[in-house]
Amino acid sequence: MKKPPVRMCIACRSAYEKKQMLRIVKDKEGNISLDFTWKKAGRGAYICDNVACVEKCIKHKLLNKAFEQEISVEVYDAIKKQYSDKQD
Ligand SMILES: [Zn+2]
Repeated sequence: MKKPPVRMCIACRSAYEKKQMLRIVKDKEGNISLDFTWKKAGRGAYICDNVACVEKCIKHKLLNKAFEQEISVEVYDAIKKQYSDKQD
């Protein structure tokens, strides 16, 4: 049986199936966006579906390290919002 593709969480460094994770992608123009299709072109970073990881990512600005550039607060806000929406 073929194993599903897994990706490493930038916060806890555990590997999960990518569809359980939030993907953040940097396109070739350098724009950062959230990718809910897991298919956008560009370099991706993944966060697992875990409150601790989402909080750690925002608090320590882990995306700045993952993409080696300054990430705008709007991106972190969008992640936070995405996470809060899931709380219902
Ligand atoms: Zn994680």
